[in-house]
Amino acid sequence: MYVFRIGKIKVVFAKVEEILKQIESFLSKEKPCQIVTLNSLIYLQSKIDYLTKKALEEAKLILCDSFGIALCCSIFSAKVLKHQPGIELIDHICCLAKEKNCKIYLFGANEIVVSNVAEKLKKEFLINVVGYHHGYIFLNNKDLSDKVEEEINKRSVDILFVALPTEIQEHWIKKHIGKLNCKVVIGVGGSFDIISGKLKRAPKLFRILGLEWYYRLLQEPWRIKRILRLPLAITILFFDCLYSKLGLKK
Ligand code: UDP
Repeated sequence: MYVFRIGKIKVVFAKVEEILKQIESFLSKEKPCQIVTLNSLIYLQSKIDYLTKKALEEAKLILCDSFGIALCCSIFSAKVLKHQPGIELIDHICCLAKEKNCKIYLFGANEIVVSNVAEKLKKEFLINVVGYHHGYIFLNNKDLSDKVEEEINKRSVDILFVALPTEIQEHWIKKHIGKLNCKVVIGVGGSFDIISGKLKRAPKLFRILGLEWYYRLLQEPWRIKRILRLPLAITILFFDCLYSKLGLKK
């Protein structure tokens, strides 16, 4: 296991078995633990949104979900560090959930997608998905957010998967985690869309070359506005890594 620090953020690079061991330990904790699967755009979001920033600083485990972040961390640590795609982590966590007989709740994506994912996970991993809710709740709609929170708490969930857009995902988790009756909360972004089959995962070659974002753009051209933020995100990340490496405080 290797931990790379970017300011107050500790990005963990570890083998799947080590990650699962840590998650297993979270399952026996009193308070819910937040896991972040960090990508460059979430990092950029932490620069403009206070709760996202807090979430990254205080999460119990930050894993690297993106090629860009792994590359930056590799450059500044002089090690070959690989990212751990969130979509693959979901499979591993589901295997753990089966073994430990955990209760799973899915929150995010649209109604059709999330119900589809619930069915697929139940069938494929034989896990106990105790409920799900779509993610079109909007941050300022307190009633809907409270309803989701209430549903999760009624079912005393072990693992909560949250699949919301970058702008609100870590923000929502940070805002609600203190009141959630669950053990592990993990943000998985657009993964439900891929599991459900609504979107295709990039082929291996695109993944190896760090071009997953491009494959996604081919399927959803409207994403161009978001993709254009990537160079800015990577530049900020690069200089933050440099600052950290030189031991300069910001
Ligand atoms: N989504 C949602 N609520 C919203 C907007 C989007 O649950 O208000 C879902 C969307 O359907 C998708 C997931 O959030 O399944 C991630 O969205 P997107 O891929 O657009 O976000 P990104 O990861 O690119 O920021």
